[in-house]
Amino acid sequence: MHYINGLWVEGGSHGFTSLNPATGAELWKGKAAGTAEVQQAVAAARAAFAAWSARDYTERLKIVSAFKALIDAEKEALAVLIAQETGKALWDARSEVAAVVAKLTYAGEAYAERTGTKSRPSPVGNAVVRHRPHGVMAIYGPYNFPAHLPNGHIMPALLAGNTLVLKPSEQTPMVAEWMVKQWHKAGLPAGVLNLVQGERDTGIALAATEIDGVLFTGSSATGAALHKQFAGRPEIILALEMGGNNPLIFHSATDLRAAVHETLLSAYVGTGQRCTCARRLIVIDGPQAQPFIDQLVASAAQLRVGAYDEEPSPFMGPVISVKESIRLLEAQKMLLSKGGRSLLEMRQLRDSLPFLSPAIVDVTDASDVPDEEYFGPLLQLYRVKTPEEALWRANHTRYGLSAAILTSEHAVFQQLSSGMRAGLVNWNRQTTGASGAGPFGGIGLSGNHRPAGYYSADYCAYPIASVEVESLTIPDQLPPGMVIA
Ligand code: NAD
Repeated sequence: MHYINGLWVEGGSHGFTSLNPATGAELWKGKAAGTAEVQQAVAAARAAFAAWSARDYTERLKIVSAFKALIDAEKEALAVLIAQETGKALWDARSEVAAVVAKLTYAGEAYAERTGTKSRPSPVGNAVVRHRPHGVMAIYGPYNFPAHLPNGHIMPALLAGNTLVLKPSEQTPMVAEWMVKQWHKAGLPAGVLNLVQGERDTGIALAATEIDGVLFTGSSATGAALHKQFAGRPEIILALEMGGNNPLIFHSATDLRAAVHETLLSAYVGTGQRCTCARRLIVIDGPQAQPFIDQLVASAAQLRVGAYDEEPSPFMGPVISVKESIRLLEAQKMLLSKGGRSLLEMRQLRDSLPFLSPAIVDVTDASDVPDEEYFGPLLQLYRVKTPEEALWRANHTRYGLSAAILTSEHAVFQQLSSGMRAGLVNWNRQTTGASGAGPFGGIGLSGNHRPAGYYSADYCAYPIASVEVESLTIPDQLPPGMVIA
């Protein structure tokens, strides 16, 4: 069902379903939104804009806070829905829900700090900066964080006074529908947030309407397609959060087990389906290099893979679909055909279901390794001789989302981090360890310099600078050549 102008309506286009990747069972069924529904949703958002943006900030905050309270009260129910629809382990799904709940604190702080109203005296009058919302924003979500990532755009955009049309991933419509029901319960006025379900065509149709901006999280290919669709329209806000081919450098560690722990989390959390997951492990030669690799391979081989509700709990679930699992197995085969050496082979663990075991392929001697994001538990290993070579290897990519450096030497961290081209660079922490208190975004094919996270407030509003004086006065001295008659 779609949510348009406060009402739940059926779509007019073809049917599609969402499956539980762990069982293949159908979870959700509906019809995609066609052009007519998409246009109705945008028109509803447009009609709601004047009243919503004119409300006092505290009123908008009250409704967003009511939504947060509803999520907090139902957090286990939401975690189960996320686990069922994405396949992620329940502990992982719970951490996604926690991020949804935590978002309001950061979004509220960022609104005040980065886009609030500021005033200071200047020689020509009071210099005031205020912020205004853009208007109707289209929000696109990926499947891997079906609650947290759309919410990461929705909350700041609503606080700023925008009205929205959400187009979630076609692989996670169930979670999207549940989330929008909570917004309805929270008392969001009709038209302020609309939901259109559907596949690529629905996304394209939405981008073809009269919107004021796109807040997108998804693959680099889709981000580039949207960028093309808006070519020649500089007035449209495009915030693109995209994929990565993220490096994790190992140099040294006081505790090798801790280094292995951070590496496993980097490469395999969420079954490798996080944009920040390490795709390339770069190991610098040294006395710890081989022991580290050996311990990593032995530990990765023991990661428990299973359905979210299995006991004992798995570390990771299936990937999102059988189609994706086939793509990943083919990517592994391709890396081996280019001269890669398998240290840990990815295998399909259950017939006709997308459960994959984690893989490590040593590609040090491989040739023509594509600079692509393989969105799953497939880690490529490069052995290098020096920190300089590690840095060159890390930056040898068109992407630039996250990176991490494992080293017990601060000087090595400084040397590598100062040259690293990425939006997130961690020291002795997993590549996937982003804090909501920081900006979140990348460079190159990973983003277009409109970072999300704490900085989302920036792309949700534009500044208006004013010089203000209470009463008009004529200066003592007029400019040369001017006479006031
Ligand atoms: P995707 O790009 O396939 O889909 C994202 C959304 O775009 C979906 O709603 C989809 O229906 C829609 N879409 C697809 N083609 C479209 C088109 N031509 N025009 C308009 N809309 C279109 O992404 P995905 O597979 O759902 O998610 C995984 C990807 O997202 C990975 O690449 C991952 O790295 C990335 N990601 C990035 C971040 C980040 O913050 N940088 C976070 C999570 C995921």
